[in-house]
Amino acid sequence: MIPKLTIRLYGDPVLRKKAAPVSHISSSERMLIKAMMAAMYENKGVGLAAPQVGISQQIFVADDGEGPLAIINPKIVKKAGSIKIEEGCLSIPGIQVKVSRPKEIWVQYTDQNGDKIERHLTELLARIFLHENDHLQGKLIIDYATLAQKAIFRKKLIEIKKLAK
Ligand SMILES: [Zn+2]
Repeated sequence: MIPKLTIRLYGDPVLRKKAAPVSHISSSERMLIKAMMAAMYENKGVGLAAPQVGISQQIFVADDGEGPLAIINPKIVKKAGSIKIEEGCLSIPGIQVKVSRPKEIWVQYTDQNGDKIERHLTELLARIFLHENDHLQGKLIIDYATLAQKAIFRKKLIEIKKLAK
């Protein structure tokens, strides 16, 4: 049985914590990853980070349409270019922010089997990786919003915060 996870919403302090690196990948981490993938698909997301389900560990899952990926202890070694795209977040429903991020990245991470992976990412997968990696640093898309946008979002954010309690 895969445990059902609850998506933590904006206002939950776990979303602002820096996630701890994973020292050992055991059956409990693999179970968490399976449950996170199920939650990601159920909520029609393209990525989900462990802090978003209340677990402050450096794990996220992603699917850019090419199949599910589990990313553990990610590192961005090199970035190039810049592109501004509108993003949403399962933890901040109903809010979209234009976020400027690198166009391509070179990354290192460990997968669910404990294998060390090195990849060059572009397009949607680079975007997801950067968004989810932000979650592991306690950073959210609204942090990229301009003051004018933040003023527009204020009411909505207060509503989401009430739901988070
Ligand atoms: Zn997010």
